[in-house]
Order: sequence, then C-alpha cells, then structure tokens
Amino acid sequence: MVSVHAHAEGVRYLDMSCRCSEPPFYYKDYESKDIGVDPNDPKFGEVSMDLCRSCDKLWLKYHIEWDGYSRSGRWYRGEVTPEQAEGITPQKAAELLKMAEWHFKGGSYYKSGGIRVQGGASLF
Ligand SMILES: [Zn+2]
Repeated sequence: MVSVHAHAEGVRYLDMSCRCSEPPFYYKDYESKDIGVDPNDPKFGEVSMDLCRSCDKLWLKYHIEWDGYSRSGRWYRGEVTPEQAEGITPQKAAELLKMAEWHFKGGSYYKSGGIRVQGGASLF
C-alpha cells in the first residue's frame, strides 16, 4: 500500500522536480506492476502501474503495439491517486486515462520519449 503524504504543499514542490514528471522516463525509476490487458481494446492495450521510487507517485501506463506494423508502439501515461489505484482493472485504467486532465504520450509511433498533452488520452 502506498503511503499518502501529509504535507501537501511540500509534495507539490517535490513533484515538480521529480524525474517521474519529466520525460524521458526510465523504467528503473519505478516499481512496475502488471495490471493486465484491456479486453475492450481491439489492439489489446497492456496496462501497468508504475510507482515512482523517489516520490511515491503512481502512474498508469497504457501500452499499445500493433503487430506487423513498424513504429507502431505507443504508450499513454497518467498520474493517479492511491484511491484510484486501489482495485484498478484494465478497463478502469482506460477510463481514467481517457478522462484525465492531462497525460504523457510517447513511443516510436510518436517518435517521442514523452510529450505532455492536455486532456484525456485517445487510446483507440
Ligand atoms: Zn517521482
């Protein structure tokens, strides 16, 4: 279980400077947990939850790879609260990312290691 920080102001300041909020992202910075495959996604999006080792922030990651197409790999990444992370399923993850206020997207499809985007992710 992830602990919730008591000092909200301090956390906000820390968040701004943490590597997990600045692309490109390194998988070694996170403790990653596999959530599963989204059954509603025709491209079988894979969902995982990344816990930042530095600031305890939680990131939902939705990864799509179209077999047979080169440079089709893409991912969407949005911050979630511990409450949202509790009992998360691939379907709920997709809903959260679609309704997000902002998110990161990246991958070979976008030729990017991470771009910050306003609004929800257009997953499929
Ligand atoms: Zn962090």
